[in-house]
Amino acid sequence: MKICYTVDDVRKEVKEWKKQGLTVGFVPTMGYLHEGHRSLMEAARKENDKVVVSIFVNPMQFGPTEDLESYPRDLDKDSKLCEGVGVDLIFHPEPEEMYPEGFCSYVDMNGLTTELCGKSRPIHFRGVQTVVLKLFNIVTPDNAYFGQKDAQQLAVVTRMVKDLSVDTKIHGCPIIREEDGLAKSSRNTYLSEKERQAALILSQSLQVGKALIEQGETDATVVKKAISDKIATEPLARIDYVDVVDFDTITPIEQIKGNTLVAIAVYIGKTRLIDNFIIFS
Ligand code: AMP
Repeated sequence: MKICYTVDDVRKEVKEWKKQGLTVGFVPTMGYLHEGHRSLMEAARKENDKVVVSIFVNPMQFGPTEDLESYPRDLDKDSKLCEGVGVDLIFHPEPEEMYPEGFCSYVDMNGLTTELCGKSRPIHFRGVQTVVLKLFNIVTPDNAYFGQKDAQQLAVVTRMVKDLSVDTKIHGCPIIREEDGLAKSSRNTYLSEKERQAALILSQSLQVGKALIEQGETDATVVKKAISDKIATEPLARIDYVDVVDFDTITPIEQIKGNTLVAIAVYIGKTRLIDNFIIFS
């Protein structure tokens, strides 16, 4: 497995593979890898000749008061995990490599980014789209793998690729959870023991919403209220949002029909966690 730090080095490798007619699968990450990331890499490993993983804590997608500085990093551990899955290349650039002096071009979107996380993180998706398109231009993957854990991001990237005619197929992969239901996340390391216990309220409240829908409830307001009421039973939890939206357009819906995303963001102490479920029609 190779670790490349520059755009040129990645391009050299990928060009060589493409000359041989090999397919390339790509998993973009911010590192501090866990089983969620591993599941994406395994999907990529199965479906492609070569697998590239990027590890880049992208400053452009963090707001000024967010956790850019404290975001956990461990390249040695990450490299071992990647090697274990059979990754061929890690791309681990410095911010200056991705955003050279004078950088002033961005990818923006009119729809999909105003609801859910876009409300409390107004510059987040511009940063995500810009870095993902840059990474796609560098790696030129046939297939790219994203987790449903970040469902809005998955919808945004899927739309961007369609709108901008990017020749990469986007694959959504299921959420990987701890045994007790907490969705795996690099940010779970911020939680104290007490907060870790309290964080279970995210998956538990979603279970309440899911059960209601399975029993035939189609009124989004009723589902949102049931989820919010459950979260309110946990004193350490503070709701950022509880929403029901159309998964393809990320616009709020009143009646549950079609591909529906039920998504929540909840602060547990100072840590903001997200979780969701999707009903595919
Ligand atoms: P991150 O490193 O948090 O930017 O995540 C990189 C990729 O891994 C994104 O596509 C995430 O959606 C995905 N991912 C993160 N956590 C999970 C999880 N628990 N299950 C599935 N995919 C995940």
